[in-house]
Amino acid sequence: MAASSALTGQDSQPIDALIVGAGFAGMYMLHKLRGLGLNSKVVEAGSGVGGTWYWNRYPGARVDIQSLEYSFGFDEGLESEWRWSERYAPQPELLRYAEHVADRFDLKRDITFNTRVAAAHWDDAAHVWNVKTEQGEAMRCRHLILATGCLSIPTDVTFPGIDTYKGDIYRTSRWPHEGVDFSGMRVGIIGTGSSAIQSIPIIASQADHLTVFQRTPNYSMPAHNGPIPDADFEAWAKDPRAYRAASKDTVGGFQNEANDALATDTAPDAIKAELERRWAWGGFRILGAFADTSIDPEANRIVQEFVAGKIREQVSDPAVADLLTPKDHPFGTKRPCVDTGYYATFNRPNVELVNLRAEPLVGFTPDGIETSAKKHEFDAVVLATGFDAMTGAIDRIDLRGVGGRRIKDHWAEGPRTYLGLMVAGFPNLFTITGPGSPSVLTNMINSIEQHVEWVADCLVSLKQRQQTSIEASAEAEAAWCRHVAEAVTPSLLPQANSWYMGANVPGKPRMFMPYAGGLNTYTEICNQVAAKDYEGFIIRQGDRVLSDSRQFTSHPPQGEIPEKLLPIIVERLTAAGLMPAE
Ligand code: FAD
Ligand code: NAP
Repeated sequence: MAASSALTGQDSQPIDALIVGAGFAGMYMLHKLRGLGLNSKVVEAGSGVGGTWYWNRYPGARVDIQSLEYSFGFDEGLESEWRWSERYAPQPELLRYAEHVADRFDLKRDITFNTRVAAAHWDDAAHVWNVKTEQGEAMRCRHLILATGCLSIPTDVTFPGIDTYKGDIYRTSRWPHEGVDFSGMRVGIIGTGSSAIQSIPIIASQADHLTVFQRTPNYSMPAHNGPIPDADFEAWAKDPRAYRAASKDTVGGFQNEANDALATDTAPDAIKAELERRWAWGGFRILGAFADTSIDPEANRIVQEFVAGKIREQVSDPAVADLLTPKDHPFGTKRPCVDTGYYATFNRPNVELVNLRAEPLVGFTPDGIETSAKKHEFDAVVLATGFDAMTGAIDRIDLRGVGGRRIKDHWAEGPRTYLGLMVAGFPNLFTITGPGSPSVLTNMINSIEQHVEWVADCLVSLKQRQQTSIEASAEAEAAWCRHVAEAVTPSLLPQANSWYMGANVPGKPRMFMPYAGGLNTYTEICNQVAAKDYEGFIIRQGDRVLSDSRQFTSHPPQGEIPEKLLPIIVERLTAAGLMPAE
């Protein structure tokens, strides 16, 4: 139905691939395709490279995965010439790294900045994507690769009266490039997710007074940030290739000493010693403490209580400590935060915590924020209110596949993909770290590298065999969606009102979007699919179907599941209709 598309009639020659987004995913995709001789371009809404690290310039922004692991491994030269200054690099350094990558591989000559893709329609007759930008440019490409980011579109959250407010409003996700000095100001911040938890200690140290508006507390672990400990650097430097391979061969794409022992089988003293050791190490290390905390509520409670104790140790007012302690979701079911001095910030005399559950936010006034209990006056307000995650950037493009079908309609009940890489009815459209892939549950750089390399191999295979298009079959897509549900259902993850579930955006379908089976398992599946001549995909040469594989059979064998957890897993899968009742 391309003839009815508003985007037809362009006579320019199509390029091989148009990549949308110049974050780490788009940059590596461009470099990779160029190296393979494919004519590729990038379109980026921002004025520079770096994606997340270009937009999120709020004070305190830094990685929550160690920099030795959160960095590219695809080029040994790049790897050996870059030395991170800290264990968890701050945003300015990450942005410098992105700039360095762009310069080193001369990427910018093929990136058009300040340009947002508004629409992309598949032309079924010409087998190309017709793309239009908000700036009115038209482009044609054989393959469209969305490297648009899982966390790149802030939620549309607004508050009554916000337009009447006379002070300055800043969003953590759209921070001014020139920075903000809060010295001498009364500041309010809405939100207590990772962005807020990183920025609050620094804003508090500058401002006269900081008021934190909290609706839901989160779990946060200390980063113990600083120079990279010699032992860590030496372990990495001995053999960076082997180190990276080991990181990629994990569930989360980073090393956290995953332990096979069950908390519920471990003596209390040994549990405490293990949790203390991991807390002292810092960051996400505690997530790997016991194999049952992500499945068994009893095991999870043990870690919850440990972290609650750590919050009480850090916050001198017990009532404030209690308010800062999560009670509505199991530990690890929202992405935990990694902080530097967050809890201790609430001991400062110039910091106040407002519990929005007890005194709901009424709206903005010309002078500040009003809750049901009080009017707060502010010179500036910071919104750290989160993202329309995983689907937000894709949804905002008027994306139409075969027969003019809109992606929004295809995803009306939640995002449906095959492998988180392709969508049935949308030929030659690839999503880097798309919904249905491990993405946000992992060290994203490793997930990005795996996706980019899989897509590049796929395009080479098509080109070598003079194949025009590849499309996920509806059957394989349905089977993958079922597998995504099977992977998460045994865990506690769906129990939180998280952005993984779409719960932070009113009206968004509730569905656990990332693939929870682990990056290692997922990579194996993707490799098997490709090795089986792209099973589950329909491949065409012009209009001629060359390969019509409908099935998805590549589940790798499951690892051994501790016998004790089996009844919980079976019960959850049965209740979800994913396993027949006995
Ligand atoms: P992005 O970096 O989001 O880049 C996508 C780009 O696409 C953006 O520049 C955007 O402008 C552009 N774009 C989107 N739509 C369009 C359009 N229609 N037209 C043109 N351009 C478009 N992950 C980790 O693993 N570890 C961390 O420590 C970590 N910290 C994070 C901290 C913050 C504050 C945030 C928000 C996320 C963090 N993440 C982290 C996730 C992070 O998004 C990824 O690690 C990674 O940077 C994603 O790279 P990307 O290229 O896929 O997407
Ligand atoms: P977030 O985790 O979604 O947090 C948003 C916060 O805003 C929540 O506390 C939320 O409260 C609150 N909020 C939203 N709407 C509100 C409203 N109308 N009224 C009051 N409060 C409201 O977003 P984020 O902090 O930007 O983090 C998103 C993700 O980005 C993270 O989970 C992480 O993956 C990544 N990130 C990582 C780092 C890092 O450490 N490297 C830093 C920043 C971000 P409720 O919970 O009650 O909805």
